[in-house]
Amino acid sequence: MISKELRDYIQKSFKRGHVICLSGAGISYESGIPTFRGQGGLWEKYDPALYAHLEGLTQLFKTNPIKVIDFIIDFYSVILKAYPNPAHRALAILEKENILTSTITQNIDGLHQEAGSRNVIELHGNAFRIRCNCAPDKTRVLAKDEIKEMIGLLKNHKNSRIKILRVLSRYFPRCLNCGCRYRIDIVLFGEMLPQDELSRAYKELNNCHVLLIIGSSLVVYPAAGLPLYAKVRGAQLIEINNEPSGLSDLCDYRILGQAGEILTEILGVLGYA
Ligand code: NAD
Repeated sequence: MISKELRDYIQKSFKRGHVICLSGAGISYESGIPTFRGQGGLWEKYDPALYAHLEGLTQLFKTNPIKVIDFIIDFYSVILKAYPNPAHRALAILEKENILTSTITQNIDGLHQEAGSRNVIELHGNAFRIRCNCAPDKTRVLAKDEIKEMIGLLKNHKNSRIKILRVLSRYFPRCLNCGCRYRIDIVLFGEMLPQDELSRAYKELNNCHVLLIIGSSLVVYPAAGLPLYAKVRGAQLIEINNEPSGLSDLCDYRILGQAGEILTEILGVLGYA
């Protein structure tokens, strides 16, 4: 799958340090989470212009709360079932072996951390975290068990607006300091990326020698601008994707295929398989 030329390059350059990964929805596909644009994704059933928008969700909740509850149940049911796959695990091993410096991800599923990666920069937030609506740095982790419990209660009380509100207020409480309601800590349409995470990403890319771009269509900005930022600073770009992305032509090496298989092969090339 990996050409002889690329094998030689990986063996020569990866151990010299500052390899960084930029991951997208494709890396979690083999964990059972559909990609944003692929078949079977959440957005085939729910219009993202409404459901991936805070204002849209708020308005819809006022008129038809059951639709929002159905969406919350479907959204969490998919990511609660997912476990890290060989691609997430390979990156965690590369980080542990001091080959990979950090993982910048557009994903919100927390699977990199679950696989053991420590230095993870989350550009679009995390579905297992909530935050105060007016203070993005005031966050709280919602454990998987808590979310499972919430989903169970929402399913049971779906037809009672009062009970739904009671359940939601229990898991998304008001902030004790400002009184704002906590919300899910993910970046919805039209919202700014967390600036501290974006700055961390740029800082890492300032010294990057190799950027591994895995499972991203590279059409969502500003994340899609990061490969160019790294490239003009001298990084070599290696893309792993099962089809060409929006920026494939910019990459020095392109590996077509499934992320899990290819990263396992890279581990082998480096002698960690
Ligand atoms: P995308 O859906 O636009 O693109 C996914 C890319 O991965 C595609 O190019 C596809 O060909 C490729 N791919 C699919 N399966 C693959 C596999 N097994 N191995 C290698 N490549 C594979 O995703 P994006 O570029 O990350 O942008 C979508 C946005 O939606 C992001 O902002 C992301 O936060 C969000 N999202 C996140 C998740 C998640 O957290 N797992 C899932 C869906 C969407």
